Amino acid sequence: MHRREFFSQGAAWLTATAGLQLAGCQLKPALPEAADWQALQRSFQGQLLFPANALFSRFAKAANSRFDAIQPALIARPKLAADVQLVLAFARQFQLPLVGRCGGHNYAGYSCTPGILLDFALMDQIELQGETAWVGAGAKLGDLYFQLSQQGRSIPAGSCVGVGISGLTLGGGMGMADRKYGLTCDALLEAELVTVDGAVLRCSEQQNPELFWGLRGGGGGQFGLVTRLQFRTFPTAEVLSCHAYFQFEQALPVLNLWQHWSRQLPRELWSQAAFWWTEDQRKAPVLQIRVSSLGATKELQQQWATWLRRLPAQPFEQDVVLHDYAEYMLSDCAGLEMAQCKLPHQSEQARLRRVAMAGSSDFFRGAMPKAGLDALLDAVRQRQQQGHSGGILLTLMGGAIRDLAHDDTAFAHRAADFCAQYLVSRPVGTAEKELQQADLWMGQMRRTMAPWSTGGAYLNYTDPLLSNWPQAYYADHYPRLQRLKRQYDPGSVLQFSQSIKED
Ligand SMILES: Cc1cc2nc3c(=O)[nH]c(=O)nc-3n(C[C@H](O)[C@H](O)[C@H](O)COP(=O)(O)OP(=O)(O)OC[C@H]3O[C@@H](n4cnc5c(N)ncnc54)[C@H](O)[C@@H]3O)c2cc1C
Repeated sequence: MHRREFFSQGAAWLTATAGLQLAGCQLKPALPEAADWQALQRSFQGQLLFPANALFSRFAKAANSRFDAIQPALIARPKLAADVQLVLAFARQFQLPLVGRCGGHNYAGYSCTPGILLDFALMDQIELQGETAWVGAGAKLGDLYFQLSQQGRSIPAGSCVGVGISGLTLGGGMGMADRKYGLTCDALLEAELVTVDGAVLRCSEQQNPELFWGLRGGGGGQFGLVTRLQFRTFPTAEVLSCHAYFQFEQALPVLNLWQHWSRQLPRELWSQAAFWWTEDQRKAPVLQIRVSSLGATKELQQQWATWLRRLPAQPFEQDVVLHDYAEYMLSDCAGLEMAQCKLPHQSEQARLRRVAMAGSSDFFRGAMPKAGLDALLDAVRQRQQQGHSGGILLTLMGGAIRDLAHDDTAFAHRAADFCAQYLVSRPVGTAEKELQQADLWMGQMRRTMAPWSTGGAYLNYTDPLLSNWPQAYYADHYPRLQRLKRQYDPGSVLQFSQSIKED
């Protein structure tokens, strides 16, 4: 960068930070001077983007457009762990807020900051060594599925290609392979972490095991910045995918049968029941039942045929499709190059769209009694009749998720049979008032379902309005996570509204 350009960009940064102080953020007076920026720039191997840079506003935004107003003062895109050390030291020296970002999908905008955004996008290397994969902290799920499946391997992870491996793994990681191969964090063998004091630690069952425990479900941005992750992989197999769609009037007996039937399915089979509805009050919500199998196609064919025979009501539509593994996992990328199969903040060639969204979750143990199902259906009906769009997804858990004991990792919901996700996803530009109304609906859903739910919530479906979030996300693991926070981030350099508190 030329000196003149640097200074003009540095000036823009200073203007931004002055705005920050006015906005009441906790910046201390010692702002960096031009010489400090130059020193950082000289040693940093990756890319530093200041507000004047043409790419700045593209990379500043996260997946959820609700947080577009939170503009970072600087985007640092590290190439090496040493870059992360440098930026952490810089942030500490000048007491600037700092957050990490991988996929930028956090529901509550926790990878947005008015300070330094450490965007791991350039650290996205994926390398398969035998049956384990080393994955850079900036890799997105689409790239992982694409690259690993070319070598006949994969890892258990989520369904959306733009989600980042770091946030997903650190918070748990659910997906269609979890009943067979465990959560994403269960497949984690090692993580390289830069702590706030600049130490680069290897974390595994053997090295720094307590920290490793906390990284498997304790959440992103809590104890340091992860730079590399090593995973156990599994051999890919064909995916048989069955769908059936039911009218809303038939939902009660179908859902009831589904929750009993699905719990006895073999672990190769994954299933989800979902209600979707639009704001069009004339169109009743639809119940979708999905079952997929990773291999075991004969088993699923038999199970599906039995299930259809036992059904009290017939679906108005159904299909059974056999997919190649990569085609199934990358279905959002159909017709796109991988660089295009990204969200705008992830690639200059991106073609996927961002949304404005709100979400929350619940966990359930065992099948819900009729009163619980009635309450759920009433809530869906009411919301739809009020003219609001939305979705509720009940995802089957169990299988390999229970192969680890409750205390083996920080993820606190292994005993649950179902995870419910409450979701409102709207186009970019939707009025914040409407989205805040959706936030309130999430809380209302949790209260409605409280008599039957565990009270837990999935950290990766972050709900910024959860009242007792330490208990809901972490249950009895919270005190242990607090000890880790005190040990590895004393003074809470890394903080956001639901970051683990030291006391
Ligand atoms: C469209 C969509 C689909 C989803 N599908 C699934 C799914 O199928 N299964 C599932 O389990 N979840 C799913 N999720 C939830 C998802 O797991 C979480 O939102 C997750 O936190 C996203 O990770 P990210 O890296 O994309 O997000 P980010 O916003 O980049 O990061 C999330 C958190 O981790 C921190 N962080 C990021 N990188 C690092 C790092 N290198 N070191 C330390 N901390 C870091 C951030 O600061 C932030 O606090 C989905 C979310 C969305 C929006």
